[in-house]
Amino acid sequence: MIVCKFGGTSVADAAAVRRLIGIVAERRGERPLVVVSALAGVTDGLLGLATAVYAGGGAALDSALEALVRRHESVAGELPGAGPAVETVRADAESLRSSLSAALGRRLRSAEIDDLAGHGELWSSRLVAGALGGAGVLSAWADIRPIMVTDDRFGRATPYVQVLNTRARECLGPLLEDGLVPVTQGFIGATPDGVPTTLGRGGSDFTAALIGAALGAGRVEIWTDVNGLMTADPRIVPAARTLAAASYEEAAELATFGAKVLHPATAMPLVRAGIPIVVLNSTRPDLPGTTIEPSAELERMGDSPIRSISWKRGITVINVRAPRMLGAYGFLRAMFEVFERHEVVVDVLASGEISVSLTVEDRARLEPVVRELTELGEVWTDDARAIVSVVGIGLRGTPGLASRIFRAVQPANVEVISQGASAINMTFVVREEDGPGVVRRLHDEFFGAG
Ligand code: ADP
Ligand code: ASP
Ligand code: MG
Repeated sequence: MIVCKFGGTSVADAAAVRRLIGIVAERRGERPLVVVSALAGVTDGLLGLATAVYAGGGAALDSALEALVRRHESVAGELPGAGPAVETVRADAESLRSSLSAALGRRLRSAEIDDLAGHGELWSSRLVAGALGGAGVLSAWADIRPIMVTDDRFGRATPYVQVLNTRARECLGPLLEDGLVPVTQGFIGATPDGVPTTLGRGGSDFTAALIGAALGAGRVEIWTDVNGLMTADPRIVPAARTLAAASYEEAAELATFGAKVLHPATAMPLVRAGIPIVVLNSTRPDLPGTTIEPSAELERMGDSPIRSISWKRGITVINVRAPRMLGAYGFLRAMFEVFERHEVVVDVLASGEISVSLTVEDRARLEPVVRELTELGEVWTDDARAIVSVVGIGLRGTPGLASRIFRAVQPANVEVISQGASAINMTFVVREEDGPGVVRRLHDEFFGAG
């Protein structure tokens, strides 16, 4: 079997769903299972309802919810077989409306936000399952929530892989054996008690990989709106080129440092079984895309020692300066224990003799972290920063690379530099507003202007 995951833009409207049907129909012989995201923009729209609830505007809430329902209605209206899905969406939206109305004027709890945010996938999957059936592709809508059992860290829940593996085989295996195309939801899960959770923004890729690993898929296809994994985000660098192949490690580094095309955890479940991921453009299914696999033949991009550049905004740098760090063991451990206690992820670390700089993305939990770090030394933070990451194979063995990078980055100022232990990435921090320019200049330097 294979897993085909379709992101938001690949189910954005009726034309996109028709393309999806064509892609799935062509793969019928390979026993495809479909994982879908919400229609493009719907997750943001649902999260916007939480803001409307807090603002206390009942009318604003009603009209925003109605607009979401209408959007599904109009897509379904153009797709034979999708009609019944609309009734489900309407009924669902109605019960959402009454529970949200009861919360007007207050901030939704994280569990309530996850429940709300997950509706987009429930709706899109109904619509796609119906439309596939209408086009003569026998499909079965499958609820992922009893399969994707997770902990209760709402907004970034972790799946229980053993349970998931068993349930996926029990619930989805028989559908495939019956010759049906199961259509299920990315992004969402539920606790063992059935409380809805989400895996974090962009999490549908991770869902697809987990299901692929559980069912021993031949490959996991990630259908999106670009030609594959590229030398940079084509929205920032129009001349970006598509990588024919990538290793799991490269893909994970690029995703961690901002290449939104893949969720950072996607490769993880697939590494052990060596299942390939193929990133493909749903508007150009004729193109080969990028194959991510362990034995990938990694081509050099021209004569460039690097293969891709990514960047991530919204970063805060925390600096800790402690003279007693000099020669003292246990200091770094004490520092990391603070981050661990507050469950804050550190992306980049650079340390000098008496100071350490770290980057974090999660501003929400910053304050208690900073307060506790103050017990270890002088602490200051710089926000509105971006991480730029240059990824390649064997970067460390390339003489003069660092100076070439820093020449290209000028006149932007580089603040924290770190080279990963894996030797495949070099990462540094710049001011957020400098990010796109830095990425463009690096791309020109290493891949030419176009
Ligand atoms: P989907 O809705 O299909 O999951 P996403 O919006 O999550 O799609 O990811 C696709 C987007 O990722 C592209 O439109 C592109 O702008 C962005 N992107 C960022 N970095 C890269 C990269 N290195 N290669 C390809 N796309 C990238
Ligand atoms: N719909 C979710 C989001 O917008 C999950 C995904 O697209 O992967 O984050
Ligand atoms: Mg995505």
